[in-house]
Amino acid sequence: MSKLKIAIQKSGRLSEKSLELLKECGIKLSNGDRKLKTTAFNFPLEVLFLRDDDIPQYVEQGVADIGILGENEVLEKDKQVKVIEKLGFAGCKLSLAIPKDEYYNGLTYFNQKKVATSYPKILDRFFKSQNLNVEIETIGGSVEIAPGIGLADGIFDIVSTGSTLLMNGLKEVEVVTESEAVLISNPILAAEKNAVLEKLLFRIRAVRNAAENKYILLNAPNESVAAISAILPGMKSPTILPLAQPGWSSIHSVVKEDQFWDIIDQLKSKGAQGILVVPIEKMIL
Ligand code: ATP
Ligand code: ZN
Repeated sequence: MSKLKIAIQKSGRLSEKSLELLKECGIKLSNGDRKLKTTAFNFPLEVLFLRDDDIPQYVEQGVADIGILGENEVLEKDKQVKVIEKLGFAGCKLSLAIPKDEYYNGLTYFNQKKVATSYPKILDRFFKSQNLNVEIETIGGSVEIAPGIGLADGIFDIVSTGSTLLMNGLKEVEVVTESEAVLISNPILAAEKNAVLEKLLFRIRAVRNAAENKYILLNAPNESVAAISAILPGMKSPTILPLAQPGWSSIHSVVKEDQFWDIIDQLKSKGAQGILVVPIEKMIL
């Protein structure tokens, strides 16, 4: 089988999570210090370690077939690549910020002003779509200091917690777009490589579904089973097993992690007892 080449970030915020995802997909890579590339033992995959900024170009050129990187870089580089799956980590926003004491009256604030950013293409597209005339000052890093040193009136940058903005006397005024890690691919993959990609995607989805869902087990008096089953959606319908104790059943189901806290009180009020919530390792739908 021909090997699929995946590009991941060499070192940075995406590296560890990208490697972890491959590991959770059952793909074993040789340990040792990160070289330029490595091959998986048990899956037709070659891993290239690159700077995230370069990944769109390499995937477009076919140096790598697929890659993992932030959506922000995909949007900024604007290469011929296909986004095939969101991966649910490295979430952040791309926002406009201005000095905190400035009065902000909406987007027209930026008209005729100067904004510093490392994402000029995304920002230019945004201001054009808003019919605003803004001067964009492209800088490589430490964008947040630009207003303080008189280089720009505002900035456009990645915001996650907002603490960097605060430290630099800035406030977030508009979220232009959101970003998370995504899997991208070259738009034209050979059939054999595509088959490997499908296999990988199948595993990634199983891992991600598992992470979002929990297996729930609880005991309930038989007369409550119908009401409790109605609260638990499950993959199909819940599994109901009789307990040794007469008049009681055990109900098993799968719930979304984020729904769990919403339904727990309802379950208890319907008489559920001994509720266990356990992690799922893989989940195939
Ligand atoms: P490289 O050396 O590979 O070019 P980098 O400095 O560009 O690395 P990192 O800081 O490691 O990149 O960030 C990688 C990606 O992580 C960003 O492009 C973005 O998608 C995501 N990210 C999530 N939260 C943050 C954050 N708070 N700051 C910066 N990036 C973030
Ligand atoms: Zn980078």
